[in-house]
Amino acid sequence: MKRTVAQLAEVLELQQPDDVFCEVIVEGASINTRTLVEGNLFIPFKGEKVDGHQYVKQAFVNGAAATLWQEGVPNPPENVPVLIVKDPELALQKLARIYRMESDFKVVAITGSNGKTTTKDMIAGVLSTQYKVQKTEGNLNNQLGLPLTLLGVKEDTEVAVLEMGMSGFREIALLSEIAQPDIAVITNIGESHLQDLGSREGIAKAKFEITEGLSDEGILFYYGDEPLLQELVDKASGLQAASYGYGEQNGLYPKELKVTEQGSEVLLTSGRDQYIQVPVLGRHNVLNALAAVRVGLHLGLSLSSIARGIKSMKLTGMRMERVEGAKGEIIINDAYNASPTSMHAAIQFAEDMTAAGKKIVVLGDMLELGDEEAAFHRKIGNEIRADRIDYVLTYGDRAHLIAEEAAKHFPSGRVRSFRQDKEELIKIIKQLTAENDLVLVKGSRGMALEVVVEALQKT
Ligand code: ATP
Ligand code: MG
Repeated sequence: MKRTVAQLAEVLELQQPDDVFCEVIVEGASINTRTLVEGNLFIPFKGEKVDGHQYVKQAFVNGAAATLWQEGVPNPPENVPVLIVKDPELALQKLARIYRMESDFKVVAITGSNGKTTTKDMIAGVLSTQYKVQKTEGNLNNQLGLPLTLLGVKEDTEVAVLEMGMSGFREIALLSEIAQPDIAVITNIGESHLQDLGSREGIAKAKFEITEGLSDEGILFYYGDEPLLQELVDKASGLQAASYGYGEQNGLYPKELKVTEQGSEVLLTSGRDQYIQVPVLGRHNVLNALAAVRVGLHLGLSLSSIARGIKSMKLTGMRMERVEGAKGEIIINDAYNASPTSMHAAIQFAEDMTAAGKKIVVLGDMLELGDEEAAFHRKIGNEIRADRIDYVLTYGDRAHLIAEEAAKHFPSGRVRSFRQDKEELIKIIKQLTAENDLVLVKGSRGMALEVVVEALQKT
């Protein structure tokens, strides 16, 4: 977004600023003085612990062109462009919505319980072979991150690929109405946020809100093996939608699929046959690649350029990332987050891998699962295959239940639980591992299991 202060005031329906400031040019927006880029509009928020208004001065030192200021907060700065608003969050969202309406770029929006960031990276990788693409940085996918990302989209960008996250009803609807996607993607329905949404049906319904802001010609691509999504599509009137998945009922599915330790190879047919190499580990990433194929084909790319884009994509870290340990262990760093679906997928991947050494899974708590959390953890423990995994180590009070279940069918001494002591966990893993062992590390964000990965990389 590149606008004058006068134009911003008009969009926000505010009084025009002093004449001297009217023509000041603002480019993009920031809520954080540390990441603020010269020319940004600074947006202060009153948080529980800190009040962003205290940082306005610093924002100008760091190059802000103008700032919002919440009505009623005393002592707005003088001699700089200040726009006084009732609610900075609403103002941010309104600026983003209107900028989006006035722009020509296409928007691809992605939601789902798992795989949003990965799918976003894959779609951006595919589309960049032909278009000028900008995408959500990292995980900025909420009611602040999404509008900020939109405001950072440059005028000459052709496609913006945006991630949309949520923890309750009507949040995706809001984001979709701001971003007005031309293409929406729903990657899957899992169990995260069950606590707030009541049931998997509720989760599906909340994700489906992404269709509410779809532009007139807009289309939804969705994971068609999920009956809850299929049902919602069947019930929706006037919605253009197409599915992908493993099953042959989907418009796009793999005719052949080979999962290896370097990634997967998929045979697709769309007019002609094309093999696609997916350079990311785990069977579930084939689905994310299929979503990217769908989007690429829709925007006019050939299957062969799509294949090129997927092969060379860059992933955001800590998602099934293969790194080497100090002793030459193969570590699969999936410490970014965990839910039952993704935990299951990652363990299955480790089970399917052939390792020259031992196979060890290090599993942390899955958080935010609501009343059923104990059952979800027990189910994981119950499912881990003792004929394919050598050691199960758990970290946290909930993951302890994984260990309890696994211990019932694993040989004695092969399952250990560490409720709180991460240092002890690291010590034991280090004693256990040797060259060529496979170590899968996975847990919810709050468990910060990347610390374990880092420790294993150091001698
Ligand atoms: P968040 O809600 O934290 O933003 P996300 O939806 O962006 O998560 P990713 O960061 O892409 O998801 O992936 C998180 C983990 O989910 C991965 O490490 C992987 O284990 C798992 N995962 C990725 N894609 C899928 C999928 N299609 N189905 C099931 N699990 C998946
Ligand atoms: Mg994400």
